[in-house]
Amino acid sequence: MIDNWRDALVDVAYLVTAVCFILGLRFLGNPTTARKGNQLAALGMAIAVVATLFSSDLEEGGSINWTNIGLILAAIVVGGAISSLMAKRVQMTAMPQMVAIFNGMGGATAALVSVAEFMHKEGIGRGEVTSIVLGAIIGSISLTGSIIAFLKLQEMISGRPITFPSQKMFNAGLGGLIAVLGVLIIWLQDGSTAKLLMWILFIAALALGASIVLPIGGADMPVVIAILNSLTGIAAALTGLVLSNMGMVIAGALVGASGGYLTLLMAKAMNRSVPSIIFGAFGGGPEGAAAGGGSTEERPYRSTSPDDVAISLAYAQNVIVVPGYGLAVAQAQHAVRELADLLEEKGVNVKYAIHPVAGRMPGHMNVLLAEANVPYDQLFDMDDINDEFSNTDVVLVIGANDVTNPAAKTDPTSPIYGMPILNVSDAKQIYVLKRSMKSGFAGIDNDLFYDPKTSMVFGDAKGVVTEMVGAVKQV
Ligand code: NDP
Repeated sequence: MIDNWRDALVDVAYLVTAVCFILGLRFLGNPTTARKGNQLAALGMAIAVVATLFSSDLEEGGSINWTNIGLILAAIVVGGAISSLMAKRVQMTAMPQMVAIFNGMGGATAALVSVAEFMHKEGIGRGEVTSIVLGAIIGSISLTGSIIAFLKLQEMISGRPITFPSQKMFNAGLGGLIAVLGVLIIWLQDGSTAKLLMWILFIAALALGASIVLPIGGADMPVVIAILNSLTGIAAALTGLVLSNMGMVIAGALVGASGGYLTLLMAKAMNRSVPSIIFGAFGGGPEGAAAGGGSTEERPYRSTSPDDVAISLAYAQNVIVVPGYGLAVAQAQHAVRELADLLEEKGVNVKYAIHPVAGRMPGHMNVLLAEANVPYDQLFDMDDINDEFSNTDVVLVIGANDVTNPAAKTDPTSPIYGMPILNVSDAKQIYVLKRSMKSGFAGIDNDLFYDPKTSMVFGDAKGVVTEMVGAVKQV
């Protein structure tokens, strides 16, 4: 209900915010307008924050509560200072971890606000208690789930599924306990017992978030990150209902819906179903899978020099470049573009094959290559290019590993079994550029490296590609 003209204006401001967010999302859909989209969304958020300061919710007994305004401003200054420092300092390669932290903070905020509202409000209606319970559960799961995702992406814990005995039973028990507690709190609505149960629910939901994400790893992480993103949005929308803040409801709903859509897209691209990921078809697979899969015995492989690769590339007709996470680590995108330009000048047809989960965040390779102004018509999605590998003379794999691993097709015990991969092994000649024989994010050996058609080129991607550029110029 609109109490007075001031709140009417605040609601209009929230509507303007919503329009900014929606247009921002639309602009973010294309690399050429993405920057504008980000700025528009930031403007929307600024309007929402200023509007909130004028809301009558901040009044107490008919006069402005300056303590509340002071607290909001202090939170903006401290939060703004920390996040702008982090944003300036973060390496491009650490962006996925940063996004995981932001996700976690959103979840934490939703959960803490929900619990705090329940603890200090009296005589709350059943509808509001339901929003509070759901906000606390979803926000807490999103917080600890995001912390585990951060630790995995930062390689502070293994990226592989981490399991413990009877994990599925434990998760089911915890989920059941949370459901029972939630129903009890909604039924009780108020009082000291309900408050005690709320604390137990909060702790149980925190534990569930961690224990759901721990056994998920490798190929499923991108989907998990999208799910956590969506959960944070839903939790924020629920908290918006609790606080009667329409701006927050709209922003949360947009994040929830776009995260949900991304979840479905990623799951489809990975040939996984969302329930099978969450309820542990993965990580719960055969013993060998959790242990890493693939063969660990020493196997022979070939290696070659950047000069030899340059000659092979310069005399090829068709070349496909397969970029992966290592390209981002080495920041080799500009050198790769230079190499491709030189080859094109020599009449070689160069294409880039983009796997949907290459790198560490959705669209990672597209963003990276766009930064180096690689023409969009040279970028091909996996489904559009996979049939072309068999007619390709040379494939240059740069810092990619899991997305090329044939075990995804051939080894049912592998944790990435069933994930669609780039058909690199179909090409006539394959060069894999990386620093060592070490595994990628999924922590498994890659049979492609031991293929008789494959030669390894060891070194940092940027240095090696720069050497290739020099050598191609000499050919
Ligand atoms: P991988 O993680 O499988 O492999 C990357 C390879 O790059 C490593 O084997 C590493 O080998 C090499 N590398 C690292 N630094 C350098 C460097 N400076 N120069 C040259 N090579 C380097 O990456 P992919 O892109 O193939 O696959 C992505 C993986 O990440 C998948 O398992 C995916 O599920 C997962 N993931 C993806 C997310 C997404 O949204 N895209 C999110 C979360 C996880 P070496 O150390 O020997 O150099």
